[in-house]
Amino acid sequence: MKIHICRTENCPADLAEGVFQILEGVEIKGAGEKMQFTNTIKPLRGIDWLEDHPAFFQKAKDFRSDCGIVRDDFVILLTGTKNARNFFSAFDGERNVYIHTDEWEEFINRPVEYAIAYEVVENVLQTLMGLDLNNRDSTYFHLEPKSCMNDFCERKKQIIHKLVSANICDLCQERISKTQSGEAIMPQALGIFETVRTAFKINLGNVPTLAPLDLIIRNDGISIPGLVIPDLLSGAAQETFFIFLLLHKGIRFDNINTYNKSTAVKETPWNEDFMFALYQRLTTRSDNPVATMLKSSDQFAQYRNAINRKLEEMVPSRFLDNFIIASNANQNKINLDRNLVRIDSPEIINLITTYRRELRRRNLENRIYTNFG
Ligand SMILES: [Zn+2]
Repeated sequence: MKIHICRTENCPADLAEGVFQILEGVEIKGAGEKMQFTNTIKPLRGIDWLEDHPAFFQKAKDFRSDCGIVRDDFVILLTGTKNARNFFSAFDGERNVYIHTDEWEEFINRPVEYAIAYEVVENVLQTLMGLDLNNRDSTYFHLEPKSCMNDFCERKKQIIHKLVSANICDLCQERISKTQSGEAIMPQALGIFETVRTAFKINLGNVPTLAPLDLIIRNDGISIPGLVIPDLLSGAAQETFFIFLLLHKGIRFDNINTYNKSTAVKETPWNEDFMFALYQRLTTRSDNPVATMLKSSDQFAQYRNAINRKLEEMVPSRFLDNFIIASNANQNKINLDRNLVRIDSPEIINLITTYRRELRRRNLENRIYTNFG
């Protein structure tokens, strides 16, 4: 299977050559089918303004017909021009692929060539899997990142996680293996992913620790002590909203009105007392914004986006997935391990004490009632 790499004028020649060298550098022994890469030195005339997918695919198709490239071969167009959908890359299902080669520095800290090499292989495999970008099957396009090649990376910063994971999840591997070519090139593809992973791992050398960060809830806000500026969310609205989501493992907007103490406790068995104290705090504040939030999904989304923007600004990307409010059509959730949540507020601790006392009293009453009822 031949993979022809070409570029528009605004993708530097040495960048394309670097990508080619990385792809070529992984040797696979044995007689089976392989990806054979070629690099075209002469650039194509550029696409000079923002365009949607078809313009880029057309460029690849023109190159294909000009060079007499057969249907079974892939054409990979590298271009410095941004696309209207702000995608890193895209494939058309007919073995034409384009990859945006610019602006990667915003999302990864080191050699862009490696990320682009990864994208080449990713798009080849996605094409072989028969995925369709216009009709995304949520089984194989993972909106919730799971460290798989097919993580959708709705937030572009998430890309680094899949680059360093070098992984294809079992479900996706199974589907790739069902196609003859996919099965054959998998060892080579994983070999290239491994090269990419190693490159990024070495360059992440200055990361002091990957120990998880905890989250502290105080009277006047939420903070993450490991950050340069630990104060994260302040103001009743943001704080209450975040705590509200922490109470759930995942919640649909539609189900918010059914939220009550019993479901909250059931959903988060990690610390019932703590749970309840937070719930109390949430509902008894006079400036409680939750009531307005419950009325409209727009308002709900606004809070979510505002908080996520703040998190993206302040939390280093390698920790971000723990704190961000992940959302899809089914639910909103925060992935943070709830055991990492600590309270630093006499007010809440007091609530917990009161609650425990109340619980003991009620248990006692129940027992009496049961005995005599
Ligand atoms: Zn997958």
